[in-house]
Amino acid sequence: TQTQMPLVKVSAVTKKFGGFTALSNVDLVIAPGERVGLIGPNGSGKSTLVNCISGMLKIDGGTIEFAGENISSLPPHARVHAGIARSFQIPRPFKTMSVFENIMVVLNFSGNDRKHADDTRTTEERALDIVQGVGLFGKKDHVSASLTQVELRKLELARAMAANPKVLIADEALAGLSGAEVDEILDLIMGMKEKGVSVLMIEHIMSAVMRFSERLVVLVAGNKIADGLPQDVINNPEVIKAYLGE
Ligand code: ADP
Ligand code: MG
Repeated sequence: TQTQMPLVKVSAVTKKFGGFTALSNVDLVIAPGERVGLIGPNGSGKSTLVNCISGMLKIDGGTIEFAGENISSLPPHARVHAGIARSFQIPRPFKTMSVFENIMVVLNFSGNDRKHADDTRTTEERALDIVQGVGLFGKKDHVSASLTQVELRKLELARAMAANPKVLIADEALAGLSGAEVDEILDLIMGMKEKGVSVLMIEHIMSAVMRFSERLVVLVAGNKIADGLPQDVINNPEVIKAYLGE
């Protein structure tokens, strides 16, 4: 078997808010191109872990490595530049800009630096391809404030893709969507793998988690209690007791 350098390596990460320990010695590895699901009860530290990986929060212990480099003290924009993208629980595009302009901003900010050397498209062409890729071509000139919830999720994913990431972190990107919309957004997220992008997906909808995950990780009260093949993890008595049985 081939040993591959992990893309993301979270080692013994601890995060405290005052006297409260939100993450306690958490380890997490994501391989290049891997799809990892992260589940756990509300308040278990899932978003905190995302915020530590993306650099929105400073960690109190442990290390976070990306492609073999310690990025623990890099600011968020440097982590985006390195190839870490996230889609937010609450989508926050620039409301007065059109769909197309929202993508142009990301391309001009970081996506152009990170594009493949053999990509001869203009920035405008790349923006239109991305907009088309998420099914928003018909809305390209609409201001983002006028979009529906599912269209906003598509725009959020398009903005993440425009940064040409190596890993996408999707924190409850499916919350509040109808069944058909869940499938549509999940298909877009799963399609990232064909582009070689790793995805860490935080999600409560178990059917989506099971369809998505190649590996499943469970956080409970800031501790990782399981990490393995999804079928094994959901049959783990401790996981059933702490989360699935609730
Ligand atoms: P999850 O995403 O799993 O629902 P969070 O990571 O959002 O959980 O929160 C984990 C715990 O940390 C919760 O008890 C929450 O109240 C607390 N917490 C999160 N962010 C902060 C913060 N900025 N300041 C203080 N406490 C926080
Ligand atoms: Mg959360």
